[in-house]
Amino acid sequence: MPELPEMETYLRLLTPRVTGRPITDTIIEREKSINVPVQQWTRDVVQQTIVKLERRGKTLLFHLQSGKCLLLHLMLGGWMFYGTEKERPNRTVQVQLSFGDQHLYFIGLRLGYLHLHSASAAEEKSAALGIDPFSPQLTAERFYELLRRKRKTMKAFMLDQSLLSGIGNCYSDEICFEAGMHPQFKTENCSQGDAEKLLYMMRSVLREAILSGGYMDEPMFVGDTLTGGYSENLRVHDRADQPCHRCGTNIIMKEIASRKAYFCPNCQSKKLSNRAAAGIREEEQ
Ligand SMILES: [Zn+2]
Repeated sequence: MPELPEMETYLRLLTPRVTGRPITDTIIEREKSINVPVQQWTRDVVQQTIVKLERRGKTLLFHLQSGKCLLLHLMLGGWMFYGTEKERPNRTVQVQLSFGDQHLYFIGLRLGYLHLHSASAAEEKSAALGIDPFSPQLTAERFYELLRRKRKTMKAFMLDQSLLSGIGNCYSDEICFEAGMHPQFKTENCSQGDAEKLLYMMRSVLREAILSGGYMDEPMFVGDTLTGGYSENLRVHDRADQPCHRCGTNIIMKEIASRKAYFCPNCQSKKLSNRAAAGIREEEQ
C-alpha cells in the first residue's frame, strides 16, 4: 500500500502537470470508486481547474476552483498513470480525469477510492488523522509524550493513523530497523533519548525514501525514472530469511498486531528489557 513517500512522490510529479489546468472530461468505469452519482460527479468536476494538490497522511487532495475537492486514497493495489491515450498502460482503469489530450488514469482502485467532498467535509475527514511525521509541531517532547501515553508495540504505534499519519507496513519496519528497535518494544518503555532517536530516524528514512521516489512498481508517466527508486534500498521489509545488510543475521518475519513485521533479531534487540528480550527470543527460536 502506498505510504507517505509514495504519495509525496505522486504529489511532486503531478503538481506541475495538473495544477492550474481545467479538467476537460472524466470517465467513470467503476461507480463504486466514487461516492456520488456519475451525473453529479461530471457536473461538479468537468471544467473545474485544479488549484492545488495536497498530501495528508496517505491521502492526496485535489482542490478544485469551486472549493470542492477530490480525496484520493489508493489503499492496496491502487496507482496512477498520467499520459496520452496511446501511452496508457494496458490495465483496467476505474476513473479517468482528462486535461485535453493528457489523461490521469486511476488504476487498481478496488479498495481505494476518489471521493468528491465539500471543503468542510474534506477537512472533517482529515481531522481524524494523526500528526504528520514532518509537522513542525511534532517536537521531540511531543513525540515522547505520544509514545509514553500509549501502551502499544512500536509496530502498532506507527501503523495507527490516528496517532501518526502516513506510515504503513513497509516504513514502520524500516524505521524500527534504523532506530535499532524491536517492533515489539513497548512504547510506554521509551526513554526521552529513544523518542529523540526514533523521531530523527523516522524523518531520515521517510526523507530518503521521498528523494528516491518511494517503492511503487509502476512509473507515473513515460520516461519517469524517479518513481520506485527506493525499492532496492529497503533494509528489512519483505526480506525474510535474507541476510541483514549490517550484520549478516537472517531477517525474521513475524506477525505483530495482525500485520507482518520484518526485522533483524540481532540489530533490533537492544531496546528490549532483558526479560522481554528473553521471552521474545524464546518465541523466535
Ligand atoms: Zn542485523
